[in-house]
Amino acid sequence: MKILEERIKKDGRVLGEDVLKVDNFLNHQVDPQLMQEMGDEFGRLFADEKIDKVLTVESSGIAPAIFAAAALKVPMVFARKKKSITLSAESYIADVYSFTKQETNHVMIDKRFLHEGERVLIIDDFLANGQAVTGLMEIVDAAQAQVVGVGIVIEKTFQKGRAMLDEQGVHVESLARIAAFEDGHVVFAD
Ligand code: 5GP
Repeated sequence: MKILEERIKKDGRVLGEDVLKVDNFLNHQVDPQLMQEMGDEFGRLFADEKIDKVLTVESSGIAPAIFAAAALKVPMVFARKKKSITLSAESYIADVYSFTKQETNHVMIDKRFLHEGERVLIIDDFLANGQAVTGLMEIVDAAQAQVVGVGIVIEKTFQKGRAMLDEQGVHVESLARIAAFEDGHVVFAD
């Protein structure tokens, strides 16, 4: 998506070898016009998948997920992160190792908001090693619902998440694909 690539070039900052900071428009301050255009694009990309619900994980997935859900005219649910859990029979829970924070969180969704047979679109801000998406897929599985697609704002193709999802035959769509960081600059995949 051209406007997203332009925005990444303008406002993204490369940190170290493999992290992109986009807190100017996505991860801290949020640009609602851009979110709306991204949500509409997800709506077009997944128009044929008969989606019942959009699922993401707090906090940075929420902005793109809510606009995708609005475009698809379905509810959006976000998994909550908890460091310690008072285990509840009313929630689905998965462990997710955070690539940027280097810690494991439990992510949970109340059983009232995910039902057997529902067709679910997972949305997240970044795809790196695929841990966040895998945790959400485990939760969807536990609910006996079905993941029919994964929509990612920024995919880093040089990390292993995309290959892992492709191997599982998951329909993945990314709005920007980064092939590498070179001398602090972003190199987009074709
Ligand atoms: P994964 O679970 O695929 O390894 O990583 C995805 C999660 O880690 C995303 O939910 C995102 O919050 C965070 N993340 C991964 N890579 C980056 C990055 O380069 N920049 C930022 N801001 N977050 C990232």
